[in-house]
Amino acid sequence: MGSGTSPTLANLPSAFAAACRVSRSDTELFDRCRDVLVRRFHSEQIWLTLDSPVTGVQTSGPAGDAADAIQVAQLTSGEAEVTIKAEPSVAEQMGRGALPLAMGLSVVLELRGVLLERQATLDDAVFQLRALRQVARLLSSVHSSEETERLILDFMAEVFFTRWACLYRPSGKEFIPAVFRSRDEADTPRPIPYSDFENALPPGSLVTTSDNVAIASLLPAGTELVVPLDAGAERLAVLVLGPGLNERPYGRAEHELAGTLAFAAAIALKNAELVERLHSAATTDELTGLYNRRALEERLEAELSRAVRHELNTSVVLIDIDRFKPINDTLGHAAGDRLLILLADTLQQQCRTLDTVGRLGGDEFLVVLPMTSADEAMVFVRRVQKQVKLIGEEHPEFGNQTISLGIGESPRHGANVSAILASADRALYHAKRSGRNTVAIADDTS
Ligand code: GH3
Ligand code: MG
Repeated sequence: MGSGTSPTLANLPSAFAAACRVSRSDTELFDRCRDVLVRRFHSEQIWLTLDSPVTGVQTSGPAGDAADAIQVAQLTSGEAEVTIKAEPSVAEQMGRGALPLAMGLSVVLELRGVLLERQATLDDAVFQLRALRQVARLLSSVHSSEETERLILDFMAEVFFTRWACLYRPSGKEFIPAVFRSRDEADTPRPIPYSDFENALPPGSLVTTSDNVAIASLLPAGTELVVPLDAGAERLAVLVLGPGLNERPYGRAEHELAGTLAFAAAIALKNAELVERLHSAATTDELTGLYNRRALEERLEAELSRAVRHELNTSVVLIDIDRFKPINDTLGHAAGDRLLILLADTLQQQCRTLDTVGRLGGDEFLVVLPMTSADEAMVFVRRVQKQVKLIGEEHPEFGNQTISLGIGESPRHGANVSAILASADRALYHAKRSGRNTVAIADDTS
């Protein structure tokens, strides 16, 4: 090699480029580049300094006194500036390789831009993956609608790191704020008229910012991101996010992520709604809206096991309309249905909140009265009989309609569902045999 060029710097640009390829941050990049120089010049007394408006001044090199260090090279690219300094003897050697050094630095600065961009993309990808994993977890377990609303709001507020967030749900003619979280203890936002919201943000709209004037006028001040949660043409909810806690405006990555998460969140809400509807269909009697037999038996079972633990009585009252068939036959099935509904309403009105009323089928009803003896159940029965009499007065087409009732008390007449129901059934049969329009307690039947 010629004496004018230091052989140690011959392939410096490619050594720096190699450092760029493997580095994941500015700091790592400049540490690695410095290492290249340290190895070639066999000296630790080398400093690389980056001065950029984004990261400030960062120096790679031994801490402590570098007072006699001499600047060997400096390069500016855009607003970033890199400087190499070294202790005088090393600086002197380096000075002989000024050209490769300058080229090396320009490689570093150019590739640093690529590195930062790549890092930002990677950060976005990691952020999105984390959020998607969270939403997948949300989707994989079944929650009630209310729970799902809360979960969606919580994880969106967390993912987007917002000062406040609100989930609006359609209810009648309005979008009401179903869940609201704020770091500032701000007041819950006001409901928004349904049609105004739909006009400003038709179904199928994408994530929007408050630059959309029509939307901004409807939403709380400070709204930054408006995320519709649509399943097909159905608007299930609208999520509104306030500013980020880090004061940075939401970028393209956040918009895209919000869109992806909104899709998953809408499915979670729809799922919860369907599960609730299915559950209600499986537990409700369609005609009267009361519990059906299955739900009644479940409630009774839960009540009986609670009563056993606390040594309490539970009474069940079985109710059957007297001579119901003739009503259907003479007035028609629809009139029969009306009478069933009237009796259902009457039973419900005479109950305490703890009690459970259901229709077992046909013209047969059951009421579960927790913490009630058979004698105490009689008080309920008398009230019901009185009201049934009023049905006849208010709806003369049903004439002097009467009912028969059978009472069973747990644990006296049976400690499980089938035993207690059988005892009430025996009592009811006894009441019918005694001429109807009466009540019997299971004891009376033996
Ligand atoms: P009893 O005094 O012995 O109870 O005589 P009843 O005529 O009431 O006889 P029962 O309780 O056996 O009759 C029940 C009738 O209820 C039979 C069926 O036609 C009628 N029914 C069952 N389900 C419905 C319904 O959903 N709507 C109407 N309208 N009638 C029903
Ligand atoms: Mg009957």
